[in-house]
Amino acid sequence: MEKIWANSGDSHYLESDTFWSDCLPPALAERMPRSVRDEDGRHETIHVDGRSFQRTIPSVDRKKDEDGLTMLERNQTRRPGITDMEQRLADLDQEGVWGEIAYPSLGIWLALLTDPDLVREAVRGCNDWIASEVMGRSPRLVFPAQVSMLRVEDAIEETQRAAGLGYRAIFLPNKPQDGVPDLNDESWKPLWAAAEEAGMVLTFHIGFEPADLVAHRGPGGAVMNWIEASWGGQRAAFKLVSCGALDQHPGLKVLISEGGASWVPFLGDRMDEAYRQLGTFVRPKLSLTPKELLYRQVYASFQHDETAVAALTAMGYRNVVWGSDYPHVEGTYGHTQETLHGLFDDQPDDVRRRITIESFLELFPDVGTPPVGAEELVDATGR
Ligand code: MN
Repeated sequence: MEKIWANSGDSHYLESDTFWSDCLPPALAERMPRSVRDEDGRHETIHVDGRSFQRTIPSVDRKKDEDGLTMLERNQTRRPGITDMEQRLADLDQEGVWGEIAYPSLGIWLALLTDPDLVREAVRGCNDWIASEVMGRSPRLVFPAQVSMLRVEDAIEETQRAAGLGYRAIFLPNKPQDGVPDLNDESWKPLWAAAEEAGMVLTFHIGFEPADLVAHRGPGGAVMNWIEASWGGQRAAFKLVSCGALDQHPGLKVLISEGGASWVPFLGDRMDEAYRQLGTFVRPKLSLTPKELLYRQVYASFQHDETAVAALTAMGYRNVVWGSDYPHVEGTYGHTQETLHGLFDDQPDDVRRRITIESFLELFPDVGTPPVGAEELVDATGR
């Protein structure tokens, strides 16, 4: 079976247990979030910046599999490649994944921090640590910088500083914290200008809203909550289009990871209908239709979705990006080649190339092109 090489628009690394103390001074590290599982196994206590609160662990995270691991534990221990970058590259070679964007895991906790000075220093420490410890391992690994979205001036400063450290993307929340202006607010306009100027891709990952992830309980809850997690990425995309940010900054590119791709044509239709039919109420006016802006500047990654390829072939949406979601259980690790062959064996080469390689390269050209044969792989990685 021919090996299909693909770039991944959705992967993750896990910071080490000592991450906060490795990258922050002790006085700040002790204020960072940590979770302690309560003895009853049903609750955890989150300690964050002098506050503590108890949280019911979602039932999906309490159930143990045949190895006695919860889904969260399995995600965090599944492969050493989630922390060990050499192991990660070996896994990527085995699976046929060339370049990938690797999202932070601890980043989800930043949403719990409300002190702007603390968050500013925390993201600086994280970004410095990643830049010095892991970013240089291989040009195939793209790490998005974290920025504080509590104050626009902090977000701008860190975006510019991270670009200087070699970052090519910033990782943004699908929605800023309560009390902070939403993504469509005019106060963020200087950030969009700064990101475009610095050549930073705006990246979003679905499901990084800790408060919203357990919306449903009872029969069907696991599936229902999974779907619920998809909306945040779609909302981020339609806000950035509707408010004019992408129109005003045509060089700005947006990646929505893990949420599938066929929602983009759907949203485009809905937005165009609103823009046209509600014309007198619509502001700002845009120089292109919302769908054209969505199609031009928003990229969307999927892993298994059967309809994602048709978003390109049947609906003309070209920025479909494949993603492995390595190393999470919902991803393709262990069956990547089977997944890619299932998706693309009946497709023309140009469709396969567009989705597996080229759309990702438009965002991150520095990862280079994957090898076509094993010999070139050895040359390319030096191993
Ligand atoms: Mn993912």
